[in-house]
Amino acid sequence: MLAAADINPANVAGAWFMQDRDFGAQYLKRLDLRWLNVGRATSQGQKRLIAGVESTTSLFRICAHCGQLDKAAGRNTREEHRSWCSHRKAATEDVREIALARTLHTQGVLLHLPPQLEYDHFAHPSLSAAVLLGLREVIGGSPEHLDVATVRDALQAPDRRALLIHDTVPGGTGYLAEFAHPDRVWSVLAKAWEVLRTCPCREEERLACHRCLLPFASPTELDKVSRTSALKALSDILGVGSHHQPEFTDWEITDVPPHRCPRATSPSCRRISTPASSNGCGSTEPRSPRNRASTAPERASPCQARRPACGR
Ligand SMILES: [Zn+2]
Ligand SMILES: [Zn+2]
Repeated sequence: MLAAADINPANVAGAWFMQDRDFGAQYLKRLDLRWLNVGRATSQGQKRLIAGVESTTSLFRICAHCGQLDKAAGRNTREEHRSWCSHRKAATEDVREIALARTLHTQGVLLHLPPQLEYDHFAHPSLSAAVLLGLREVIGGSPEHLDVATVRDALQAPDRRALLIHDTVPGGTGYLAEFAHPDRVWSVLAKAWEVLRTCPCREEERLACHRCLLPFASPTELDKVSRTSALKALSDILGVGSHHQPEFTDWEITDVPPHRCPRATSPSCRRISTPASSNGCGSTEPRSPRNRASTAPERASPCQARRPACGR
C-alpha cells in the first residue's frame, strides 16, 4: 500500500522551519491523499514509479468485461468470470491490470524531516507512531480523527520522505490549523519523547511495547517500530541529549525554507545552519508558497554553489 499526497503549494496556509536543523512544518488547508493498493511485491514484472517510489508489483489482473479477478495468466476458464460475463467461454482471456485506490480530501500538516532518517530502516514507521503517541498525550485521548502517513516530501525535498499528519474526516475539522504554530508541534514531540525515554520496555528485549509505540503502529509495520529509533529521531529534532529535558526555547524558528545541498542526503554533504539573512542570497523575505516548491535539488539556486558545506 502506497500513500501519495497531492499538494497544491497555494494551499499552504502556514509554514515554519528550524534554522539549525532540517525540520519544519507546513499547514495544508486542503490536500488530496490517496492510498494505492498495487498488489503484492514480486521479483518479476514491470517496474513502476508511483508517488516517487519505484516498485515491482503484480497489480491486479481482472477480466476487462466483468471485473472478476484473473487467477492464471495465459488461459481462460469459466471460474474467472461472473455468471453473466459473455467471455466465460472465450478461447483467450481479455484482462486489464489495475491498482485499487482510495482518495481523501482533507487537511494536514506536512513535517519535513532530517536527511539522516533515510538511513534508518526503522525511522519513519517509528517516528510516525511516536507522533500519534504524542498527539494522544496532548489531546488527552485517542487521536481517532487524526492519522499519520509517510509520503514523499514533494514541496521541500523530493528525495526524502516526510510525515503527513492528516485529518481522517473528509474536508477536515480545522483542528490541525494549530500546528501552523511550532510550539504545538514541539509539545507533541516532547510528550512522545518523555514517554519513550521512560517506557519500561527499554529494559526488556523488545523493540517497542503496548505502553509506547505499538498501539500506534501500522499493522503491516509492527516489526519496523522501534522505541530506540523513535527516541533518537526525536532527540535530534528536539536538540536534546539523553540526560537533558527538551526546551522549546532551544528551537530557532524561521519562516524561510532552508536551502538544500543537491546531495543533502549524503552525511558528508549536509546543509550548514545559516539563516537566509546571512547566506549571500540577498533576501530576507519569506518566500511565496510557489517559490517554496521550487527548492527541489534539481533546481538548485546559484548561491548554493557558494555554500562551503556543499563544497562542490
Ligand atoms: Zn469476465
Ligand atoms: Zn515501550
